[in-house]
Amino acid sequence: MGIIEIIDLKKTYERVTAVDGLTLTVERGEIFGLLGPNGAGKTTTIKILSCLTVPDSGICRIEGLDVVKERYAIKRIIGVVPQENNLDRELTCYENLKIYAMLHRVEDYERKILNSLKTVELLDKKGTLVSKLSGGMQRRLLIARAMLPSPKILFLDEPSVGLDAHVRRQLWELIRGIAWEGRTVILTTHYIEEAEALSNRVAIMNKGRLIALDTPFRLKRELGAYVVEEQMGNGKVRYHMFHSKGEAHEFARGCACQVTIRESNLEDVFIRLTGERIES
Ligand code: ATP
Repeated sequence: MGIIEIIDLKKTYERVTAVDGLTLTVERGEIFGLLGPNGAGKTTTIKILSCLTVPDSGICRIEGLDVVKERYAIKRIIGVVPQENNLDRELTCYENLKIYAMLHRVEDYERKILNSLKTVELLDKKGTLVSKLSGGMQRRLLIARAMLPSPKILFLDEPSVGLDAHVRRQLWELIRGIAWEGRTVILTTHYIEEAEALSNRVAIMNKGRLIALDTPFRLKRELGAYVVEEQMGNGKVRYHMFHSKGEAHEFARGCACQVTIRESNLEDVFIRLTGERIES
């Protein structure tokens, strides 16, 4: 049995169907990426899983517990890093974590707060006001806060939005470390590179539906590991997928237009399945 089981999940807001019949299983200990463009339904899925919103229909279980009927039990085993930064800017890092620890009845919290700050490399900022931290540091503090009750599952909603490439990579190391401890990590992202770099498996969502689910490697291999980009002269690009470098080169030699050969990525998978791009 997977640690998370979702069967035919649906959620509609007024006229918008945010999640439209989602079915998937997340295995224990994996980093599971939910990838898709803005509005694909990723955040809504995370909100349902973290008991912040109620689905219209379908089944959603975490460790066999129902997200609607057993949400107090679920809240004890999950940690959530929301998309919007909800730290208290007028309090220090330590104070933010202390309030959270007390709300969640974390035992021996002083030691755990210091450990948490150490893990995210913010121990020296213990007494610093949140308003004085960089965006990357605040994101790390949000992770430290979510980790305080030592959750089995950590949900990260767009963890690296707004962070530069270097800080993003530091954050990836931190996330890998959390999974290495045996925890399950579910992250949403619309960054292709992030989904590929971190996820053991990726669910690609579009318009509330699951359109592909597998390891990044298998998703790309199925499509073709090499892409020839053909510049059409009118600003348009045509993409041709090939399973071997040799085939790609042979095709490129026969093209009259300017071509580029590169390895395929999850964006190519998305384009092939939907005709659209993920990253805006
Ligand atoms: P993003 O990457 O922009 O966060 P997402 O894939 O996480 O997108 P959701 O935030 O789940 O997508 O939104 C899915 C759809 O549901 C969107 O069309 C969105 O406008 C709509 N939606 C989400 N929350 C609400 C709400 N509280 N009220 C009305 N519509 C909503």
